[in-house]
Order: sequence, then C-alpha cells, then structure tokens
Amino acid sequence: MQQLQGIAVSPGVAIGESLVMDNEGFRIPRRFVTRDAVEDEIERLDKAIVAAGKEIAGNRDAVSGELGDKYGAIFEAHLQMLQDTKLRSELDDMIRQRHYSPEYAVSRTLRRYAQVFQRLESSYLAERAHDIFDIEKRLLRHLLGHRREGISHLSSPVLVLAHNLTPSEAANLDRRFVRGFVTEIGGPGSHTAIVAEALGIPAVVGTGPFLTEVSGGDQVIIDGDNGLVILQPDEEALARYQHQVEEIRSLAARLETIRDLPGETADGVRVEIFGNIEFPHEAEHCTDRGTDGIGLYRTEFLYLGSETEPTEEVHFEAYSQVVRAMGDKPVTIRTFDLGADKMPHLPAPEDEPNPFLGLRSIRLALRNLPLFRTQLRAVLRVSTLGNVRIMFPLVSTLLELRQAKMVLADVMEDLEEHGVAFNRDMPVGMMVEVPSAVMMIDRFVEEVDFLSIGTNDLIQYTLAVDRSNKDVVGLYNSCDPAVLKLISMAIEAADRKSVPINLCGQMSGSPIYTMLLLGLGLRRFSVTPIAIPEVKNVCRNVTIEQCQAVTRHIASLENARDIKSYLKEELRKCVPEQGV
Ligand code: PEP
Ligand code: MG
Repeated sequence: MQQLQGIAVSPGVAIGESLVMDNEGFRIPRRFVTRDAVEDEIERLDKAIVAAGKEIAGNRDAVSGELGDKYGAIFEAHLQMLQDTKLRSELDDMIRQRHYSPEYAVSRTLRRYAQVFQRLESSYLAERAHDIFDIEKRLLRHLLGHRREGISHLSSPVLVLAHNLTPSEAANLDRRFVRGFVTEIGGPGSHTAIVAEALGIPAVVGTGPFLTEVSGGDQVIIDGDNGLVILQPDEEALARYQHQVEEIRSLAARLETIRDLPGETADGVRVEIFGNIEFPHEAEHCTDRGTDGIGLYRTEFLYLGSETEPTEEVHFEAYSQVVRAMGDKPVTIRTFDLGADKMPHLPAPEDEPNPFLGLRSIRLALRNLPLFRTQLRAVLRVSTLGNVRIMFPLVSTLLELRQAKMVLADVMEDLEEHGVAFNRDMPVGMMVEVPSAVMMIDRFVEEVDFLSIGTNDLIQYTLAVDRSNKDVVGLYNSCDPAVLKLISMAIEAADRKSVPINLCGQMSGSPIYTMLLLGLGLRRFSVTPIAIPEVKNVCRNVTIEQCQAVTRHIASLENARDIKSYLKEELRKCVPEQGV
C-alpha cells in the first residue's frame, strides 16, 4: 500500500481499478506478463529497439545534413543511450525475473533514469531528462503500435491516473465509466478541477510524480475530500473507505429531504442558492437538487468540446436547453472565458508567457468581435424564452465594461433591424474577480444590474498565485484575510446601491465557508450542483447572528490557516453532520 498526498479538488470517495495514462494521453498497459510469454516478450522488445534505432539514425542523418553534425549529435546521443548494454540488461532482467511487460519495464526504467537527471542542480543536465522521455515515448510507440489506446473506448468502471488532463480532456471523460481521477500536476483552482466537480466525481490533483509506481488494473482509492490517493490499499484502508462511501450516501439521502424547502437561515432570512454549470445537461442536476436558478453558466465549454467554432445556432440550442429546464428561474449566461488554461482552437497569440495575465476572457472577446457578436446574438435571442441574464467575465477596468456593453447594444440594434425578438431589459452583470474591480466597485455598481464575485480568480490575482500550479498551493487560500477584505468590500458596495451580488467561485460551494459568507452579508450563493443541498442545509441550521459573530471573530485572526481551522470548528458545532 502506498499513500500520496495531493490537492483535493472534487469531493467524495472512489474505489476501483486504475487506468494509467502516459504524457501523451495513452493508456500505460498492465504490469505483468506470464512466465511462458517471457521469451516472446524479449523478442518484441528487440524488434522495438531495432526499429526505434533506425528511426533515430534517420533523424541523425537528416539533421546532420541540414544543420550540421553538431545538431545531429543530439540524436547520436539518443542512439547510444538506446543501445546501451547496461540499459538493455536492466530491461531484460525486469522482464525475465520480475515478469514485467516490456512496456512497463521501459517506462519504469527510463523514468527512473530521467529522475536522476531531473534532480541534478545543473539546469542543463536537468534538461537531458527530456531526451530520456523522448526515447521512452519512441520505444512505447514501437512496442504498442496500433494497440496504443486512448481512453475513449471504456467498457468498465475505472479511476483515471494521468500526468495531466486539460479542461477539455477532463470534460470529455466518459461519464458512464470514469469514477474519479488523479493528476500529477495541476492546482486547486484549475479548470480541470472545476470540470471534475461538474462531473460529480472525486478528484485529486498535484500529487507529484507517481505514475511509474502504478500500473493499469491496480486497485486505488481516491479520497477527494482530503486529497489522498491510496495505491493498492490494505484491508483496513479498504474497509474504512467503504464505510465512508456509505456515510456519504446516507448524508446525500438525508439532504434530499430538504430539496423543496426554501433556502433560508434558521431565523428566516432568505438565501438564494444557484447552480454553476459548464454543460447544458447539468441544468437538470441543479433542478433535481432544488436550485433557485443558474448563477453561472460557463459557456466556454461549448468551444472546448468541439473541433470547430460553435455557430450561433449551436449557442442558441445549448442556452435554450438550460432556459427551458429552469422555467422562470434566472439563468446567468457568462460570455466565454477562453484563454489561459482554457485554450480553444482560436487564433491564440503564439507567445503568451503569462496566459493568466494575457489575452483571456473579456479581453479576448473584445479583440475577436465576430466571435463575441455571434455569442451575444444567441444570448439575446434566448432572452425571450425565460429569465435570462448576461454576465461579462474578468472585467478589470470601467472602459472594458463599457466597451462590452457597447458591443451588446450594437448587436441589439442589429437584431432589431432584422426584426429578431429579444428582451431589451435583459439584466447585464459582471464578474468581480480582479482586485482592480473591487477597488473601483463604487463606480462599477453604477453601471451594472448585478455582480458576481469570482473568488477562484480573485484569490489568484490578489495573492499573485497561479490557481493551477501545485507548487504554490499553500498560498492559494480562500480565507486569506486579504481576500476576505476584498469580498467584504464588494458586498458592502453592492448593498449600499442595492445591486444584487452573488458569489460563484468554488469557495461558495464549500460548507466550511457558508457561515463566514453569510456573516459578511452574502445572500446569494452559486455553487457546483452537488453542493446545493449541503450549502442549503448549513443555511437552514444557523442564524445570521451566529454568522456575524463568526465573522467578527475572524477579523481578529491574522492568517488563513487559523481562520480555516476556526471555521471548521464552528461548522462542526453548528451543523455536526456536515462538520469536517
Ligand atoms: C472564478 O474565477 O471564481 C469563477 C467563477 O470563474 P472561473 O472559475 O470560470 O474562472
Ligand atoms: Mg474566473
């Protein structure tokens, strides 16, 4: 049994067989071969080495001819490494003595070599690890040939273990069979993490390297509440987690009973609980759980899921599905937030060293007006079908907001000229997710119908900490006092002007923060669908006075760690069944 600590990004526990993916998104096959097959497997390895060697020699000659021997030498070095007798005897030993499959022996041995280089002080030598990975991939390609499989054809439940998954790869996981996933890299606020929540499966990211330690078919436990991954669990761990799965099920069943009760505190203050969705079918996950509407529809997933740019009709269809499912409840359609970690098939700038600070979101929309206008037309058309609102993401200056509103007004005029119906009074809002927006909040409230605080980004931009980088996860903290101060400023400014304000970052769906946010004056939460009953349950069990006392106490605390443990304690006291 081996236990890994990663970052918990989607709650729940999954127990099952692993499916291991390599860096290129292909399955790494099972570890063992039978005793009888050993000699055949050695021969297969021979053939793969010869074929890979020919390929490398071809590259060496071509590159030497075009660029000179100095560059050809890179491939000569690969060839020598591939044909190294020490490597070969290690591989043979692994197959003969330990009955490892050649693929597994290659992966494991070469990755161990690469790690030695990666640990060296010299960055030049550390870079050599890439050469070794290159040889590994080449050999695997030859060993597996056309048998190399992705994960699109699954037929039984699996837990996916991968080096990385992009948001669109995560979004395309086969929901019928994938019961959870773990990635070696990735951070707490990454969009891959958000997709995991949308899929409703436990997920852990940022564990660091471990894929060479595991092989397809091994038993694994993913503890999405504590960020733990257990490889080949012992009996005791299995029994403990099976018990936990039962407890999670019974809590979910108990919470079902409050589905149709209003979101309100124990002292009768109304609290609206909306759902965050990425895909239209999730609207039903929200209605099933008694939502007050959709507080955030991340429309960029329409672009990520398709090879080509979605047409106006594709937008219209997707939005109509959500609006129909919601009846007269509000549906907040956020215009696309592409760029940064959500890279679509758009003309993206070639060199974007800091994508989170670059051409992302509303900035990208304002530079790609035809694309933006297509979406706006669809949103306006759907506005006649229900209670639709539009929201602009990542607004950092007043000018940007005004520009976006001007484009919207222009599209309205266009539709009017063509006799297309739309709701001229459709509410227009913006995300508050950049510190500059909070600094200027008194001006913004004059120009919007509603606001929504996006803490995922607000934390990242306030603390200068990449939300998808596991190495700075310690700084990425929802309850950092600086972040809380900004949230509080935004709520107060909105209240002064009676502009409705929501909070739709991940923090909003975590019951630990519910009392704090209520104490800060928040009355609208927008959360991942599975969190709707949990947040509602906390609200129904606490009074505003209790929450304000919590907030007052927190004002005296200096760091995120103390605040978080205090919040956990308070939750345990007030709502014991949800205490963590
Ligand atoms: C946020 O930043 O908090 C947010 C809700 O938007 P996203 O996670 O899509 O950036
Ligand atoms: Mg955001």
